[in-house]
Amino acid sequence: MERTRVAVIRCEDYDGDRVYAALSRGVDLLGGRGRFARSGERILLKPNILAGDPPEKGVTTHPAVLSACIRLLLEAGASLSFGDSPGLEHPEQAARRSGLLAAGREGGAVLSDFSGGGPLANVRGKAVDSFPIAQAVHECDGMINLPKMKTHQLTRITGAVKNLFGCIPGKRKALYHVQFQDVHAFSGLLVELAQVLQPRLHIMDGIIAMDGNGPRSGETRPVKALILSEDPVAVDATFCRLVGMDPEYVPTTTAGYRAGLGCYRLNDIEYVGDSIESLACPDFRMIRKPVYGNASYAHYRFIKNLALPKPVIDVSLCVRCGRCVDACPVPDKALRFENGSKGQPPTYDYDMCIRCYCCHEMCPHRAIFKATPLVGRLLRLG
Ligand code: SF4
Ligand code: SF4
Repeated sequence: MERTRVAVIRCEDYDGDRVYAALSRGVDLLGGRGRFARSGERILLKPNILAGDPPEKGVTTHPAVLSACIRLLLEAGASLSFGDSPGLEHPEQAARRSGLLAAGREGGAVLSDFSGGGPLANVRGKAVDSFPIAQAVHECDGMINLPKMKTHQLTRITGAVKNLFGCIPGKRKALYHVQFQDVHAFSGLLVELAQVLQPRLHIMDGIIAMDGNGPRSGETRPVKALILSEDPVAVDATFCRLVGMDPEYVPTTTAGYRAGLGCYRLNDIEYVGDSIESLACPDFRMIRKPVYGNASYAHYRFIKNLALPKPVIDVSLCVRCGRCVDACPVPDKALRFENGSKGQPPTYDYDMCIRCYCCHEMCPHRAIFKATPLVGRLLRLG
């Protein structure tokens, strides 16, 4: 059986020419730019624009990676667009604040429509009949996924598979957390979405990654690597190998393998480019344990609250902006300001909380962290 090819390319920093050279090298090792874009095609670039944070925070795909990708594909004769649907902000505002709007337009690409869209049938999948997909995706001939290398509190990492969740516009994303509360069910949904979208190539920006309390509140971490492949599962597994994490601990990886989206085992991957050993980052801060499904606890509130990890607010950092409350997808809100007043930080109702970590993801002040009660730590549920 033919093995999945993954290119791991060292890149020291975000100098434009250096990123372009690294990206060109990686794409050439995978067959050349003509394999991924042909003259006259409309190619959509999908960076991670979780929020309108500046590039130096490491929350979003760096503008230099978008610029290099545009340069490369324009040379192939494609016409290019780019965009993402952030957690709460308007797509254009988040693109502007993250520096990606300027980089995209200066490079010669147009910001595409991620604020609305229409259904795309999930013919092979089981989770849903169709996905509501951004208009940008409907209008392109092919997509290239540009995920950021970051930790994530629900799925351990946010990588190539999870980055595609941003193709669902607006708050519909959050509602899927309510519909698919178990992390493994949710991961299965993400895998089916990736199978529907079928990007031609995945290019992970790990030049400066984010470890610790990601995907928005962690610390920047230079891993100095770009990871490229046509297989999103293999890209995520390679991220894991670079940081000394078992790929099987990432639920989208095992679900993706079972569904035929891609592979993660070493024997199934052909590595090209620079060696993983030369870029290894074993002290990357992340939780290196399996993710336990939360569905089995959902109906036993006492056990759930006694054992399951939960989001907690550090009141010394909270500025009472309310973004976390806005982000909570539970209809009656599992996180609220007492009496509607912003005089004090919001408080959690852990009985209602489904542990989706949308509040954590959207806090712009790094005031929310994940805490595991003693019983959960003893059971290694962290
Ligand atoms: S988003 Fe963060 S800073 Fe804003 S209210 Fe929530 S915890 Fe506080
Ligand atoms: S409080 Fe936070 S973790 Fe709990 S359901 Fe709401 S957004 Fe999700």
